[in-house]
Amino acid sequence: MPMDEILDILVKIQQYDEEISNIQREIDEIPKKIAAIERQIENAQSDLTEKQERAGQVKKTYKMKEGDIAENENKIIKLNSQTFAVKTNEEYRAIVHEIEFLKTENKKIEDEMMALLEEEEKIRATLSTVEAETRQLLADLRAEIEQYHTRSEELTQQLAKAENDYRTNYGKLPDIMQSQYRKIKKVRGKAVCVVTDETCPGCSSILTPQFLNELKKRKDVLLCDNCGRMLVYVADDSARTA
Ligand SMILES: [Zn+2]
Repeated sequence: MPMDEILDILVKIQQYDEEISNIQREIDEIPKKIAAIERQIENAQSDLTEKQERAGQVKKTYKMKEGDIAENENKIIKLNSQTFAVKTNEEYRAIVHEIEFLKTENKKIEDEMMALLEEEEKIRATLSTVEAETRQLLADLRAEIEQYHTRSEELTQQLAKAENDYRTNYGKLPDIMQSQYRKIKKVRGKAVCVVTDETCPGCSSILTPQFLNELKKRKDVLLCDNCGRMLVYVADDSARTA
């Protein structure tokens, strides 16, 4: 095979290699993105449940407070009747004090009940809106997950194609070139660099004019003196992305 062709294949397999890892990276990200959306769904659902349950809780608490007030009122009646039987002023003052305390308590409880009524009204007024909004949000989020599944399928197909293209081109290389590519890739990550000016794109070191001249002849696979990557000179930029 002419060296010119080998150089073009090297450039191609480098491109496929990068394409494969880009696709793989995107595929790997998808489950994390889906998991994040699933957490959003869970949060939205539990927010709604919390609001729905709060409405019931408010009602229950209101009833309990009604009971507390009745209990205090019974105590007051009892204490009032005791005032007739007291023997000392001290005892009398203690009972009156206790009655005042219970009356103040009941006032406080009544205020709390008012607040609960207001809260219940507010919940009732907004609950149906919140429910509708949550339904819409959940539908949007589920659609987003669906899109990720579709994207994942697309990417899997793209990956298979890129891997196939890579294998086909890699198989065309002479054995010695294959092992060289693998070795450099293992050490440097990227094995082949396309040179367009007087520097090595892999390590940014400056290439000598003699080296550049040799590179431009495209008669051999030249390695960068500094980083050891395979350097290929491509005169026409469009050939690189072909
Ligand atoms: Zn280099």
